[in-house]
Amino acid sequence: MASAGVEGSAELRIDGVAKRFGEVAALDGVSLQVAPGELLTILGPSGSGKTTLLKVVAGFERPDAGSVKIDGMEITALPPARRDIGMVFQNYALFPHLTVERNVAFPLEMRNVGKLEIARRAAEALALVELAGYEQRLPRQLSGGQQQRVALARAIVFNPRLLLLDEPFGALDRKLRETMQLEVRRLQRRLGLTTIFITHDQEEALVLSDRIAVMNKGTIQQIATTTEIYERPANDFVADFVGESNIFHGTVSTPGTVTLDGGRMLKVNSDRPAGTKVGVLMRPERFGTEGTNLFTGEVIESVYLGTSFKLRLACEGGLELLVRQPARGTLPAPGARVAVGIEPEAIHVF
Ligand code: ATP
Repeated sequence: MASAGVEGSAELRIDGVAKRFGEVAALDGVSLQVAPGELLTILGPSGSGKTTLLKVVAGFERPDAGSVKIDGMEITALPPARRDIGMVFQNYALFPHLTVERNVAFPLEMRNVGKLEIARRAAEALALVELAGYEQRLPRQLSGGQQQRVALARAIVFNPRLLLLDEPFGALDRKLRETMQLEVRRLQRRLGLTTIFITHDQEEALVLSDRIAVMNKGTIQQIATTTEIYERPANDFVADFVGESNIFHGTVSTPGTVTLDGGRMLKVNSDRPAGTKVGVLMRPERFGTEGTNLFTGEVIESVYLGTSFKLRLACEGGLELLVRQPARGTLPAPGARVAVGIEPEAIHVF
């Protein structure tokens, strides 16, 4: 089955897809490509259009404009059952009255696969999700994580060309969610399955993805590798939505220097010409105790996080900074004065 998955892995191409619900533009001209064997995460806040996009790919929604292609073949008008797409949703949606084995066998029965072949492939899929031995249980006799693994086995058992996962671990507790994320990643790599994973959880997106597409209000804000999204976000929305951030705006005064709107000067690593309006992003963990750009400020909030201290500092010129430092010594108390610094190359200009 593993080799069949790799051979069958497909390329997905979405071009200019638009979908309105009355006044709401749920999708406003979305284009993206997912390479064979790639895991692309769609990350965005509630209502940004993630589920609608997945429904268009799966065939449950017909777009007003645009096209969906698998390996160059237009599938925009094809009914869901003929798309060969495996899907897992947040609310398991297992058949409650069927055993684990029958649940997993279902897509094969739909495809008129022979009995012996069904038994063999169901057993294989259950082994892949580490549920061998659970064949005769009913869904209600399983934990939430196990139920999601059955759903996953059912989604991959027919060697789909594409796997779609819509917040599949949303209902699980944090620890189990982390375990399942790693399991899905391992399985997806092993089978070489082209996969779209939807989440509003930026940590989950960073852990899982080859690339992330960040969505807001029906449009894709940026589509890039996880490091690119985190280190070099394209705009305020992406910088703010992914990770903790200090975002300021200003004007390039000379190449390599930005004057922030409050008047503070920053040395940066950017050759944008003088007069350019820019945003600057400083991640909290990129501050040290010294650096080319120095700030002193009063601690207004301090939190101990095990391995790090998280400090909110009120600095000169009304600048407020969020800073993370390795937890050493005692946690600075509110009111204490603290100096921090950041190097030009640690500042992202956009
Ligand atoms: P969530 O993370 O909350 O699931 P989402 O990013 O998946 O959100 P969608 O479910 O795609 O967002 O919804 C996008 C927009 O389209 C929302 O404003 C939603 O209210 C609207 N919408 C989605 N489906 C319908 C529908 N069937 N009828 C009317 N409006 C809809």
